[in-house]
Amino acid sequence: MQKRPDGIIIAIDGPSGAGKSTIARLLAERLGYIQIDTGAMYRAAAFLLSQANVDLGDLSAVEQFCRNIDIRLEMVSGKQVVRANGMDVTDKIRTPEMSLLTSRTSTLKPVREALLTAQQLMGNKGGVVLEGRDIGTVVFPDAEIKFYLSASVEERAKRRCEELSLKGDPVTLADTITDVVERDRQDSERDLAPLRQAEDAVMIDSSLLSIDEVLAEMESLVHNKIELLESSL
Ligand code: C5P
Repeated sequence: MQKRPDGIIIAIDGPSGAGKSTIARLLAERLGYIQIDTGAMYRAAAFLLSQANVDLGDLSAVEQFCRNIDIRLEMVSGKQVVRANGMDVTDKIRTPEMSLLTSRTSTLKPVREALLTAQQLMGNKGGVVLEGRDIGTVVFPDAEIKFYLSASVEERAKRRCEELSLKGDPVTLADTITDVVERDRQDSERDLAPLRQAEDAVMIDSSLLSIDEVLAEMESLVHNKIELLESSL
């Protein structure tokens, strides 16, 4: 296998609330890799589309609009900042309404095509941990290591509830379960790049595992993989 200049590509896919972002951030920190939160990119695109009032039923208008979007993930004092057409949208894209809207806009071909190209450019040199829904199946089917991180609906909704109430945005568990189920449905039933486990992905169910336990398991598999690749060069 051809060695990428900056390291390997680590793909982490899975449904919302499985802990992908936290794990991807910690794993990237430990390895000195860059974390690419593709969900944040889809959220930023949804934000721009809704702000500009683009008719989501008019695919040529969506395509035209997506040609000029500029979405960047930047690290500022150890915190990830999401910029959409120059605007800092880091917090604005994290509301329950934006989550559901994103799940809708991410079914649209022009949105997926624009972000797919951007993600491939950001990651193809390696040294990256990409997290999303279609990394191991579509964005980097040749990623050196793939994980599929999941957890029960109840556990994922509980975590999302805690996260939102910590931010002073309390929601009920029942409402969050409804949102999580709806988002899972939209993400896994769509025609383009649906959420599914790549055949060669390692499945980890985080329902009963702590963040440290998940991280330890992934880290050990990643190190084994890197050693194996280096010994075969
Ligand atoms: O990961 P996060 O929950 O922030 O993702 C928000 C939404 O973005 C998902 O529900 C999904 O619809 C979309 N998404 C996607 N493909 C990805 C990452 C996210 O369609 N690779």
